[in-house]
Amino acid sequence: MSAAAGPEIERLIQLLARLPGFGPRSARRAALFLIKKRELLMAPLAAALQTAMEKIEVCKICGNIDTQNPCTVCIDARRDPSAIVVVADVADLWALERAHAINARYHVLGGTLSPLDGVGPEDLSIDTLVKRAHEPAVREIILALNATVDGQSTAHYITDLLHETNVKVTRLAHGVPVGGELDYLDEGTLAAAIRSRTPF
Ligand code: ZN
Repeated sequence: MSAAAGPEIERLIQLLARLPGFGPRSARRAALFLIKKRELLMAPLAAALQTAMEKIEVCKICGNIDTQNPCTVCIDARRDPSAIVVVADVADLWALERAHAINARYHVLGGTLSPLDGVGPEDLSIDTLVKRAHEPAVREIILALNATVDGQSTAHYITDLLHETNVKVTRLAHGVPVGGELDYLDEGTLAAAIRSRTPF
Protein backbone atom coordinates (compact mmCIF):
# COMPACT_ATOMS: atom_id res chain seq x y z
CA MET A 1 0.00 0.00 0.00
CA SER A 2 1.43 3.41 -0.91
CA ALA A 3 1.66 6.10 1.77
CA ALA A 4 -0.68 9.06 1.47
CA ALA A 5 1.78 11.41 3.18
CA GLY A 6 5.52 12.00 3.53
CA PRO A 7 7.69 9.96 5.94
CA GLU A 8 7.55 12.62 8.70
CA ILE A 9 3.76 12.48 8.84
CA GLU A 10 3.72 8.69 8.52
CA ARG A 11 6.10 8.52 11.50
CA LEU A 12 3.82 10.78 13.55
CA ILE A 13 0.89 8.50 12.74
CA GLN A 14 2.87 5.36 13.63
CA LEU A 15 3.88 6.82 17.01
CA LEU A 16 0.35 7.97 17.81
CA ALA A 17 -0.93 4.49 16.93
CA ARG A 18 1.12 3.07 19.82
CA LEU A 19 -0.84 5.06 22.42
CA PRO A 20 -3.37 3.06 24.47
CA GLY A 21 -6.84 3.25 22.96
CA PHE A 22 -5.46 4.23 19.54
CA GLY A 23 -5.53 2.16 16.37
CA PRO A 24 -4.20 3.09 12.92
CA ARG A 25 -7.42 4.85 11.97
CA SER A 26 -7.73 7.01 15.10
CA ALA A 27 -3.99 7.75 14.97
CA ARG A 28 -4.43 9.07 11.42
CA ARG A 29 -7.35 11.21 12.57
CA ALA A 30 -5.40 12.55 15.56
CA ALA A 31 -2.37 13.33 13.39
CA LEU A 32 -4.53 15.25 10.94
CA PHE A 33 -6.18 17.12 13.80
CA LEU A 34 -2.77 18.08 15.23
CA ILE A 35 -1.52 19.20 11.85
CA LYS A 36 -4.58 21.38 11.31
CA LYS A 37 -4.13 22.90 14.80
CA ARG A 38 -0.37 23.39 14.47
CA GLU A 39 -0.17 26.66 16.40
CA LEU A 40 -2.96 26.08 18.91
CA LEU A 41 -2.28 22.46 19.84
CA MET A 42 0.70 20.83 18.17
CA ALA A 43 3.32 23.38 19.28
CA PRO A 44 2.16 23.48 22.95
CA LEU A 45 1.89 19.67 22.95
CA ALA A 46 5.42 19.28 21.59
CA ALA A 47 6.69 21.74 24.24
CA ALA A 48 4.79 19.92 27.03
CA LEU A 49 6.21 16.56 25.90
CA GLN A 50 9.72 18.02 25.85
CA THR A 51 9.36 19.51 29.35
CA ALA A 52 7.86 16.29 30.70
CA MET A 53 10.75 14.30 29.19
CA GLU A 54 13.27 16.52 30.95
CA LYS A 55 11.59 16.83 34.33
CA ILE A 56 9.69 13.64 35.09
CA GLU A 57 11.08 11.41 37.83
CA VAL A 58 9.95 8.35 39.74
CA CYS A 59 9.43 9.21 43.43
CA LYS A 60 12.12 7.53 45.52
CA ILE A 61 9.66 7.00 48.40
CA CYS A 62 6.41 5.82 46.82
CA GLY A 63 7.08 5.17 43.11
CA ASN A 64 4.66 7.85 41.88
CA ILE A 65 5.59 9.83 38.76
CA ASP A 66 6.10 13.56 39.21
CA THR A 67 8.36 16.47 38.34
CA GLN A 68 9.70 16.63 41.89
CA ASN A 69 11.33 13.93 44.00
CA PRO A 70 9.96 13.06 46.59
CA CYS A 71 6.63 13.60 44.83
CA THR A 72 3.90 16.14 45.61
CA VAL A 73 1.89 13.52 47.53
CA CYS A 74 4.82 12.38 49.70
CA ILE A 75 5.82 15.91 50.76
CA ASP A 76 2.23 17.02 51.48
CA ALA A 77 2.24 17.57 55.26
CA ARG A 78 -1.59 17.59 55.47
CA ARG A 79 -1.79 13.91 54.60
CA ASP A 80 -2.46 11.26 57.21
CA PRO A 81 0.96 9.73 57.98
CA SER A 82 -0.55 6.63 59.59
CA ALA A 83 -1.90 4.97 56.42
CA ILE A 84 -0.24 3.81 53.21
CA VAL A 85 -2.41 2.87 50.23
CA VAL A 86 -0.77 0.14 48.13
CA VAL A 87 -1.54 0.22 44.40
CA ALA A 88 -0.24 -1.80 41.45
CA ASP A 89 0.26 1.11 39.10
CA VAL A 90 0.58 4.91 38.99
CA ALA A 91 -2.74 4.97 37.07
CA ASP A 92 -4.46 3.49 40.16
CA LEU A 93 -2.89 6.16 42.41
CA TRP A 94 -4.10 8.89 40.08
CA ALA A 95 -7.59 7.32 39.96
CA LEU A 96 -7.84 7.32 43.78
CA GLU A 97 -6.61 10.93 43.89
CA ARG A 98 -9.17 11.96 41.27
CA ALA A 99 -11.90 10.39 43.40
CA HIS A 100 -10.59 12.23 46.52
CA ALA A 101 -10.98 8.78 48.05
CA ILE A 102 -8.45 9.10 50.86
CA ASN A 103 -6.02 11.68 52.20
CA ALA A 104 -3.08 9.36 52.79
CA ARG A 105 0.16 8.46 51.08
CA TYR A 106 0.71 5.68 48.56
CA HIS A 107 3.04 2.91 47.57
CA VAL A 108 3.24 1.88 43.91
CA LEU A 109 4.24 -1.78 43.44
CA GLY A 110 4.88 -1.50 39.71
CA GLY A 111 2.55 -4.39 38.84
CA THR A 112 1.12 -7.50 40.44
CA LEU A 113 2.58 -10.96 40.98
CA SER A 114 1.93 -13.06 37.90
CA PRO A 115 3.57 -16.50 37.59
CA LEU A 116 2.24 -16.82 34.02
CA ASP A 117 3.98 -13.61 32.92
CA GLY A 118 7.08 -14.38 34.99
CA VAL A 119 6.51 -11.52 37.46
CA GLY A 120 7.87 -12.47 40.89
CA PRO A 121 8.22 -10.54 44.18
CA GLU A 122 11.72 -9.33 43.21
CA ASP A 123 10.22 -7.54 40.18
CA LEU A 124 7.93 -5.39 42.37
CA SER A 125 8.64 -2.74 45.04
CA ILE A 126 7.66 -5.08 47.86
CA ASP A 127 10.77 -4.88 50.09
CA THR A 128 10.57 -1.07 50.17
CA LEU A 129 6.90 -1.42 51.20
CA VAL A 130 7.86 -3.71 54.09
CA LYS A 131 10.49 -1.15 55.18
CA ARG A 132 7.90 1.63 55.11
CA ALA A 133 5.45 -0.52 57.09
CA HIS A 134 8.02 -0.65 59.89
CA GLU A 135 8.12 3.15 60.24
CA PRO A 136 6.71 4.13 63.68
CA ALA A 137 4.02 6.47 62.29
CA VAL A 138 2.49 3.81 60.05
CA ARG A 139 -0.56 2.02 61.51
CA GLU A 140 -2.45 0.75 58.48
CA ILE A 141 -1.58 -0.67 55.07
CA ILE A 142 -4.53 -0.46 52.68
CA LEU A 143 -4.27 -2.90 49.77
CA ALA A 144 -6.02 -1.18 46.85
CA LEU A 145 -5.31 -3.90 44.29
CA ASN A 146 -7.34 -5.20 41.38
CA ALA A 147 -10.07 -7.76 42.16
CA THR A 148 -8.36 -10.20 39.78
CA VAL A 149 -6.57 -13.47 40.55
CA ASP A 150 -3.16 -11.76 40.26
CA GLY A 151 -4.28 -8.74 42.31
CA GLN A 152 -5.65 -10.91 45.10
CA SER A 153 -2.68 -13.29 45.22
CA THR A 154 -0.42 -10.23 45.50
CA ALA A 155 -2.60 -8.98 48.38
CA HIS A 156 -2.24 -12.34 50.16
CA TYR A 157 1.51 -12.40 49.62
CA ILE A 158 1.93 -8.90 51.12
CA THR A 159 -0.42 -9.68 54.02
CA ASP A 160 1.74 -12.71 54.93
CA LEU A 161 4.91 -10.60 54.78
CA LEU A 162 3.43 -7.95 57.08
CA HIS A 163 2.15 -10.50 59.56
CA GLU A 164 4.89 -9.80 62.09
CA THR A 165 4.59 -6.00 61.99
CA ASN A 166 2.14 -4.09 64.16
CA VAL A 167 0.28 -2.58 61.21
CA LYS A 168 -3.32 -3.38 60.39
CA VAL A 169 -3.66 -4.70 56.82
CA THR A 170 -6.95 -3.89 55.09
CA ARG A 171 -8.22 -4.30 51.54
CA LEU A 172 -10.88 -2.64 49.39
CA ALA A 173 -14.45 -3.89 49.77
CA HIS A 174 -15.77 -6.11 46.99
CA GLY A 175 -19.39 -5.71 46.02
CA VAL A 176 -22.19 -3.76 44.38
CA PRO A 177 -20.94 -0.74 42.41
CA VAL A 178 -22.50 2.65 43.23
CA GLY A 179 -25.60 2.96 41.02
CA GLY A 180 -25.43 -0.76 40.21
CA GLU A 181 -28.47 -2.98 39.73
CA LEU A 182 -28.30 -6.45 41.31
CA ASP A 183 -29.90 -8.16 38.33
CA TYR A 184 -27.00 -7.07 36.08
CA LEU A 185 -24.16 -8.16 38.36
CA ASP A 186 -22.10 -11.26 37.68
CA GLU A 187 -22.37 -14.12 40.19
CA GLY A 188 -18.84 -13.58 41.57
CA THR A 189 -19.55 -9.93 42.44
CA LEU A 190 -22.95 -10.77 43.96
CA ALA A 191 -21.48 -13.55 46.11
CA ALA A 192 -18.63 -11.26 47.26
CA ALA A 193 -21.15 -8.51 48.09
CA ILE A 194 -23.17 -10.89 50.29
CA ARG A 195 -20.05 -12.17 52.04
CA SER A 196 -18.77 -8.64 52.78
CA ARG A 197 -22.15 -7.24 53.90
CA THR A 198 -22.02 -4.45 56.51
CA PRO A 199 -24.43 -3.37 59.32
CA PHE A 200 -27.01 -0.82 58.15
ZN1 ZN B 1 6.00 9.86 46.48
